[in-house]
Amino acid sequence: MRKLRCHSCGKELPKGSLKYVIEIRSFADFDGYLEEYEGDIEEGLNELLDAVESLDVKTLEEDVSKELIFILCKICRDRFISDPFQTGRTAFEGEDVKGTIH
Ligand SMILES: [Zn+2]
Repeated sequence: MRKLRCHSCGKELPKGSLKYVIEIRSFADFDGYLEEYEGDIEEGLNELLDAVESLDVKTLEEDVSKELIFILCKICRDRFISDPFQTGRTAFEGEDVKGTIH
């Protein structure tokens, strides 16, 4: 059986040890504002449809929403939770920053 390791520091996580699952869900936000389209709307729509057709379904889905799952040890999990992108700033909590409430 493959040994489970922390995705961040690589430390081995033996069976029964304390480990955390980090699920990252990224999805396109919509703030209710649509940019005004300059030009012929029908033409623009056709262009958009052509662009969409040339993309495969997977690319299109990943553009809208993508989920990632990581397993972390406690140390890495605590570090990640307090500052996910290592910017030195505290992470936002809850629904405050979303453009829409689902
Ligand atoms: Zn770790």
